[in-house]
Amino acid sequence: MPVIRACGHCGQKNRIPAKYLASTGRCGACKSALPPIAEPLAADEALFDEVVQNAPVPVLVDFWAEWCGPCHAAAPEVARTAADMAGKAVVLKVDTEKYPQLAGRFHVRGIPNFVVLFAGRVVMQQPGAVSHEQMEQWLRTAAPVSV
Ligand SMILES: [Zn+2]
Repeated sequence: MPVIRACGHCGQKNRIPAKYLASTGRCGACKSALPPIAEPLAADEALFDEVVQNAPVPVLVDFWAEWCGPCHAAAPEVARTAADMAGKAVVLKVDTEKYPQLAGRFHVRGIPNFVVLFAGRVVMQQPGAVSHEQMEQWLRTAAPVSV
């Protein structure tokens, strides 16, 4: 299940396999560079598994819900983290109302709830809003060799 990303140059929709989300690619139509993903991706279960199992970089998951005020407060920090860590990490957002099974797999009770995974394994998990500096720190220390 690849991610569809529009080329910033020609608008062509490119299919990006999960393992290349943190890499610079090339547009299939105009051959312009497609930069690494720099914004949080809304994930369903299939995309979640695809990214977590195949991404060569750490993955930050933000478990959130529409009704959750602190989640909305944390959202700009999550977005900033995705921008700052482009090419070094992938950021996923999981709507716990839409995908309660996914939240259940990680025993998410309080939200926002952040999980960092690397190579398919949980590195750390913490509930409660934090700054983007803290999120970036988690990601840097999740894979000290490759980042
Ligand atoms: Zn293009």
